[in-house]
Amino acid sequence: LSRYRSDFHEIEKIGDGNFSRVFKVLKRIDGCMYAVKHSTRQLHKDTERRKALMEIQALAALGSHENIVGYYSSWFENEKLYIQMELCDHSLSINKFSNLFTEADVLEAMHQIAKALQFIHEQGIAHLDVKPDNIYVKNGVYKLGDFGCATRLDRSLPIEEGDARYMPQEILNENYDCLDKVDIFSMGITIYELVRGSSLPESGTQLLNLREGKLPLMPGHSMQFQNLLKVMMDPDPTRRPSARELLENPIFERARKDTKNK
Ligand code: ATP
Ligand code: MG
Ligand code: MG
Repeated sequence: LSRYRSDFHEIEKIGDGNFSRVFKVLKRIDGCMYAVKHSTRQLHKDTERRKALMEIQALAALGSHENIVGYYSSWFENEKLYIQMELCDHSLSINKFSNLFTEADVLEAMHQIAKALQFIHEQGIAHLDVKPDNIYVKNGVYKLGDFGCATRLDRSLPIEEGDARYMPQEILNENYDCLDKVDIFSMGITIYELVRGSSLPESGTQLLNLREGKLPLMPGHSMQFQNLLKVMMDPDPTRRPSARELLENPIFERARKDTKNK
C-alpha cells in the first residue's frame, strides 16, 4: 500500500536531481497543490539514510520561516524517503530568469535570502548549497530550499558541501571552521551570477579571481553594491559579514525606497 498513491494525485514531474525526483501533486483530501520530493534509490546505507534525514529535519525545523520553502510532512515508503513541501513557482535557474535582474531586484532577493540565512545560522545550521537553483520564488517571495547539504555549524555532523562552483577556497582546502561564512560566500557568487545574467564557468579564471578576492568592476552598479559583494566573497571568512551584519547594511534601505518609487 502506497501512502503517496493513496494521498496524492501526481500532476507532473518538476525536478530531476542526481538522487531524487520532485513532482507537483494534488493532495486528495485538502484539494491543495504541493511539491513531493523522493529519493530515486532505496536508502540502504546508514550514511545515505542519515543524510536524507538531515535534509528533512533541517527543513522541518526551519520551514516555518517565510523565506524558506515550507515543510508539511515526510515518510518512508519502500525504503525511499518522501518529503511533502510547499510548491513554489520556479527556482532562480539563471538561464531562464537572469535578464530581469536590476540592482534593485537583486538587492531584494539578497535581503530576503539573508533573512533566511540569519534564521538558519541562529538555529545552528549551515545550508552549504546556496546557489540560484536552490532559491525558489513563490508569489514574488524568495525562498531558500534544498537542504540536502545542510549540516550543524558546530560540526557535530558529517560535512558534504554542495556545488563546488559556489564554494570558497577554504572549503576546497577542507577547512571547515566558519561554515556560516561559507553560505555568505555562496550567496556572493549567486548574486554576482544574477547581475551578470549567466552562470560562471566551473573551471576558469573568473571563479579563481573571485575566490582570491578580485571582483571585476561592474559598470552600471553602485560602488556600495560592488563593495558589499566584494566583502561577501573575501578570501578570509572572518572578514565576511554574518547574515545579521549583512541585514544591517544601509543599502537595503535604499533598495526598498527605489523599488517603491518605481
Ligand atoms: P539531488 O540532490 O538529487 O541532486 P536536488 O537536491 O538538486 O537533487 P532539489 O533542488 O531539492 O533536488 O529539487 C530538484 C528540482 O526540483 C529543483 O531544481 C526544482 O526545479 C524542483 N523543485 C524542488 N523543490 C521544489 C518546490 N518546493 N517547488 C517547486 N519546485 C521544486
Ligand atoms: Mg537543488
Ligand atoms: Mg540537493
